Amino acid sequence: FRLRDVDTEETTCGFCAVGCRFEMYGTGGEYRGVEAVDDPSDAPANDFSTCVKGKFGHEFAESENRLTSPLVRDEDGDLHEVSWDEALERVVDGLTDIQDEHGRDAVATLASSKGSNEEAYLVQKFARQVLGTKNVDNCARLCHSSTVAALQQTVGYGAMTNRINEDIGEADAYLITGSNTTESHPVLATRIKRNVRDGADLTVFDPRKVEIAEHADHYCRTEPGYDVAWINGLIRYAIEHDHHDESFIERNTKHFDDLRGKVDPFTPEKVEELAGIPAEEFEAAAETVCTADSLVVGWAMGMTQSSHGTQNCLALANLALVLGQVGKPGAGLSPFRGQNNVQGGGGDMGTLPGSLPGYQSVEDEDVLDTFEEAWGERPPDEPGLKVPEMMDEALEGNLRAMYVVGENPALSEPDISHAEEALDELDFLVVQDIYETETAEHADIILPAATSPEKEGTFTNTERRIQRVRGVADPPGEARQDWEILQDLANRLGYEWDYGHPREVMAEISDLAPIYGGVTYERLESGDQHGLQWPVWDEDHPGTPYLYDYEEGEFNFEDGKARFVPADVQKPGEVPDEAYPLTLTSGRVLYHWHTGQLTRRVEGLMSHVGESFVEIHPETAEKLGIRDGEYVRVESRRGDIVVKAEVTDRVGEGTVFIPMHFAAGAVNELTQESFDPTSGIPEYKVASVRIEAL
Ligand code: SF4
Repeated sequence: FRLRDVDTEETTCGFCAVGCRFEMYGTGGEYRGVEAVDDPSDAPANDFSTCVKGKFGHEFAESENRLTSPLVRDEDGDLHEVSWDEALERVVDGLTDIQDEHGRDAVATLASSKGSNEEAYLVQKFARQVLGTKNVDNCARLCHSSTVAALQQTVGYGAMTNRINEDIGEADAYLITGSNTTESHPVLATRIKRNVRDGADLTVFDPRKVEIAEHADHYCRTEPGYDVAWINGLIRYAIEHDHHDESFIERNTKHFDDLRGKVDPFTPEKVEELAGIPAEEFEAAAETVCTADSLVVGWAMGMTQSSHGTQNCLALANLALVLGQVGKPGAGLSPFRGQNNVQGGGGDMGTLPGSLPGYQSVEDEDVLDTFEEAWGERPPDEPGLKVPEMMDEALEGNLRAMYVVGENPALSEPDISHAEEALDELDFLVVQDIYETETAEHADIILPAATSPEKEGTFTNTERRIQRVRGVADPPGEARQDWEILQDLANRLGYEWDYGHPREVMAEISDLAPIYGGVTYERLESGDQHGLQWPVWDEDHPGTPYLYDYEEGEFNFEDGKARFVPADVQKPGEVPDEAYPLTLTSGRVLYHWHTGQLTRRVEGLMSHVGESFVEIHPETAEKLGIRDGEYVRVESRRGDIVVKAEVTDRVGEGTVFIPMHFAAGAVNELTQESFDPTSGIPEYKVASVRIEAL
């Protein structure tokens, strides 16, 4: 191609929620590559760097396996190409028949955090206005729903309190836990490591010595599943040694005495007993964490994906509040969100069973009045099913149909044989996606959609920054934009949606979701500000770098005060025993993403890590007679897989690790169905397994 034919658009990365900005190139409607932005100040989260996925990972859009035409399954189980008209009429008939016979709530929709804000908004509008079902959820249920539940109880908003560049990049100290930051949020990790090199302190608590722990002043290896013990231990240490911020606590918080009583038993010796951290090591780490001038508390799914994930995150919020490390430069509560748009599409846009856009309750009559006036239909007024409940209700025969947009529950649910049974039990399954995913293999109708290099819209990154996304390529064949597919269906079902461009959807979002009240494409494109951090209350509001204020509090409750909500230690849903003596934990690798649907199609990424594997500690391997590089069988009470052994002391003795990205050797054949009672998040991080050499 000739250079003058190249289209260039500045856009936002479609992989992780760091939200890196870069120039994307296309020609003749095809994706060609990315390059750093000319002016680093255009990229608030990343300056000019990107990671390997951002730079080389978008070839998936050009995969020959992309869906290019609607497909329907015939009675013999074979898929056939049909016209859009036929496919959409079949969707309309299928959903209508089921709702006529079994009621509106016999249908559920599942949205994805990979899509744009505008698409997520329309998925929940399609569910609530058009289908009239209360059942809408999204994949954030499986990653940070416990973070959201905990932060809403303690500080008010379920989101990161601070900024990437100015705060995470410039803290005096870090407490990082349950986050393989280098591999999951690489550019964020680069910032942290750069600051650590320049003198900041880094303390890492994790069962696995992840790469960022190699740079730490203190690394404490923890027993999987007992994190509240050491976090409560840190709070106790702070109070005992007078490192707590008394004036902040007095000024801005409630229920401190309850917390003090709850953490009192967690002496260093008790922490050693429960969490496996030698008392002396723990005290040294505690002294660093509790005496920092400014501290970022960063965490990810090692904390959240637990049967007591909300307790873990409550404990972290309590710790930051006790130390007064919220609402000031270089400090804050920093959940590292996973997917590119998990903050926006996974929460802000209301693809949640209990929340309308902007985290407004489905049980608030005033909110329902506002939506009824805008939509001409009153949204259902009670919370619907969470994702794992959808699977159970499908097996019970109460849920009869699902409309899945961009998600892959057949690989992402815990104990996937259970999820597959549930999908097969449905009378009708529609999948809207870019590939024939493992979930699409169970679908009656598959609708081909567009992906990030082909999209217009916005993503909201982990620091609540709303940024523009622009496409440079056309969807292949007859594939269409997600918002166009939903609009076509809504109109076939009797509604009059008339969006001409995602910017018109954003105008509706800003009318209905107050935290997006001042967001317009004009502002996002003006170049005056690079994205807007919510809340953005109106068009004159500049956005909100800090959610709260160290002096004034301003926590998101009527009285402006944060709440201490004491957390308790609970056992994981499964503990090792004679039959299954090892503890399995799961996670990511740098070169792959989620269920691997995108990255397993990129040769360059597969050449680095091309198959699943299990990390085993050398002493465990020796006891079992397993050598590095040989294939082994890993078995839990749910199933078994065969994967290659990697013998390494990255994991502790008795703990093993398997990545989450592969369909062959899928870790979720082994994971268990214990759920956090508050958020409904599954316990992906702890399961009991045994291993044998083949
Ligand atoms: Fe994309 Fe995340 Fe890598 Fe940045 S760090 S380039 S947002 S995957």
